[in-house]
Amino acid sequence: MTSDTVCRRLDRIIEDSRRCERDNGRARNSVALVAVSKKKPAAMIREALACGQRRFGENYAQEFHDKAVELADAPEIEWHFIGPIQSNKTKLIAAHAHWVHSVDRVKIARRLAAQRPAELTALNICLQVNIDNEPEKSGVALEALPELARAVREIDGLRLRGLMCIPRPRSDPRQQREPFARLRAAMTALNDDGFALDTLSMGMSGDYAAAIAEGATMIRVGTAIFGRRD
Ligand SMILES: *Cc1c(COP(=O)(O)O)cnc(C)c1O
Repeated sequence: MTSDTVCRRLDRIIEDSRRCERDNGRARNSVALVAVSKKKPAAMIREALACGQRRFGENYAQEFHDKAVELADAPEIEWHFIGPIQSNKTKLIAAHAHWVHSVDRVKIARRLAAQRPAELTALNICLQVNIDNEPEKSGVALEALPELARAVREIDGLRLRGLMCIPRPRSDPRQQREPFARLRAAMTALNDDGFALDTLSMGMSGDYAAAIAEGATMIRVGTAIFGRRD
């Protein structure tokens, strides 16, 4: 794909998310775009950087590490780790990420904090919720979320920012909103209980409009920007 295409696709997603903000009475620029670059080469990230994109999302710890090293000359990048986390990979993530969206157990949170290099700022954390209770999927169950949130809030070096989910795919836009509404309600309940969460990480290429309608503050879009992955 030519850089022109990456830039044009980025522009289209940004324009469309501004339209979704307007249509839903959301403040302008209240939705941030994380460009999901997993399985795509660092060269494509440079193309997106050249047209102003700064937030990038990666799923695989080793691939993320390699790209972060390769792109060390671009300190303007804000790295978002969004994939499942094995405990033997937390060090690679803690060394480079600005955000981790996929924390679903306290053990992982503690390791990320312990392995965070001292010279870096606090790591921004979203807790991943298994919003459709899918047996194969990562994420904490809604019932166990308050306990996990209370534990993570106490860990030095982490900053608990919000919640993330990956719903079961639904094609009907009205049905797509339902799991996002439940995640929003879970964040509201935590905030009513004394938390100060400000981030709802929800919405991908196929459902970001529904996510924005339900209050997403970060959408994570890959395919619609970088094309299909093998
Ligand atoms: C791959 C991935 C995305 C992006 O999905 P697309 O459908 O390509 O936009 C977003 N979030 C997570 C957690 C992912 O793994």
